[in-house]
Amino acid sequence: MATTVEQHPAQTLNGAEHGREGIPVENPATGEIVATVPDLGADAVAEMAKNARAAQPAWEELGFEGRGRVLLRAQKWLMDNAKQVIETIVSETGKTYEDAEFAEIAYGANAFGFWAREAPNYLKDERVKSSQLLVKGKKIQLRYRPLGLIGVIGPWNYPLTNSFGDCIPAMAAGNAVILKPSEVTPLTSLLMAEGLRECGLPEHVLQIATGRGETGAALVEEVDMIMFTGSTATGRKVAEAAAKRLIPASLELGGKDPMLVLKDADVERAANVATYYSMQNAGQTCISIERVYVEAPVYDEFVAKVSEKVRALRVGKPDGFGSVEVGAITFPPQLETIKDHVADAVAKGAHVIAGGHELPGAGRFFEPTVLVDVDHSMKCMTEETFGPTLPIMKVKDEEEAIRLANDSPYGLGASVFTTDTARGSAVARRLEAGAANVNDAMVNYTVLELPMGGAKASGLGSRHGAGGIRKYCAQQALVVTSRVALKREPHMYPYRAKTSRLIARLFKFLYGRGRRD
Ligand code: NDP
Repeated sequence: MATTVEQHPAQTLNGAEHGREGIPVENPATGEIVATVPDLGADAVAEMAKNARAAQPAWEELGFEGRGRVLLRAQKWLMDNAKQVIETIVSETGKTYEDAEFAEIAYGANAFGFWAREAPNYLKDERVKSSQLLVKGKKIQLRYRPLGLIGVIGPWNYPLTNSFGDCIPAMAAGNAVILKPSEVTPLTSLLMAEGLRECGLPEHVLQIATGRGETGAALVEEVDMIMFTGSTATGRKVAEAAAKRLIPASLELGGKDPMLVLKDADVERAANVATYYSMQNAGQTCISIERVYVEAPVYDEFVAKVSEKVRALRVGKPDGFGSVEVGAITFPPQLETIKDHVADAVAKGAHVIAGGHELPGAGRFFEPTVLVDVDHSMKCMTEETFGPTLPIMKVKDEEEAIRLANDSPYGLGASVFTTDTARGSAVARRLEAGAANVNDAMVNYTVLELPMGGAKASGLGSRHGAGGIRKYCAQQALVVTSRVALKREPHMYPYRAKTSRLIARLFKFLYGRGRRD
């Protein structure tokens, strides 16, 4: 496809900027270079920030209705242009057409409508009642106002869902946004920005800062709040830089999601869910199923079903709907991590019962792989693999499954399979994860009404729900005293012993009455 680059004054068509080499964008399924984008430096990011700050007040002034109209037009634009957007996503990620349609287009379209509709509800002024005597009769309100300029740093695995899942609520709240997409997958962001402009988004309300890690670091220096999705290691760097500037940071980081299959589970459903949610997007999803613990009585049946289903998956270059189930490995170093985790497991005694190898040829592919006889001495059970691999471990009971599931620095998602949903919910509540599904996996991400965020090293803050838009705002407490108020209230100067003793007695009456046990 042709490059579609928002022209920054310092950019030229070959992607060069201020003498910096452009960044070539590769199709991971073919190895071909499909475009070159600019590698913007700190000066260009600073200029973008200046333009964004100039554009933001008018955007805020438009109000929820005016902003919502643009977002609803964008929802329609995305549906009308779905084919072009899917082809762009596939060209830079190598994912299947279904992975682009189900997990990116559908998410994006829903998100435009959701935030257009819900922003005014989540951000409207709240009338607050207080038990505090001093403010009786006063009007007390909580108000949310946009922070101004939000930086969004996106990863390469879902160029639409991950990045725009944050840009949309940030803009709906009245902020200007600068998005720094992954250097590996910048084209979807550029196309989406063009679409939004067609839908009437004012100039500079959303700008795309293409570049490498250095561009992301420069962005953190310019914005009022940073939303980051990516690895835990880079997330820490971003959090440190944000802390130095005292700006808020929200971080969605890595995961090692466990799946627990209890002995009373519907094994056929559990096997289908395990196969799909470990291999979908070639396993390159922060909430992929990365490891499975199966109670001994159903272990053999589960392993047999999963390995048969995984062996049947077609892997290779996507060529329209229905062409393959598993696409390419998007990020070159990821392939080395996947190979390393499989080799490490095998060296320590694991057995590969499906797949296990990189595919030869031009693109970057790894066979859908099932590992058994695994344990927590192996990287495949403790470190994020982010690939089409599924290690399965036999456990003696529910307690052991819970203990091992929680034996991880990560805590993004988790799932439990049992026909006893009360038991499933009780187990889910004991898992140290930001989200837990019973008899399903990953679907919580589609529920925009629910917070999506990680426990432990999986992140800080959350996206979606009320918190997913309020984080792009400053809270302001408003207390309004009527003009008919007393000229001098009893606690004010001058202090008089009699009045002070009376007030002290009043406090004792309010807070000190009655027995406590
Ligand atoms: P990174 O965390 O390095 O990159 C994420 C984003 O941050 C990219 O846009 C990257 O730019 C940018 N970035 C890099 N360095 C800095 C910096 N110092 N300051 C600000 N921004 C920066 O992830 P990778 O793409 O390298 O993937 C590494 C691992 O992260 C994967 O193997 C996987 O385990 C995990 N991951 C998790 C994801 C999730 O959804 N939680 C998504 C993707 C990856 P650039 O790409 O240009 O370097």
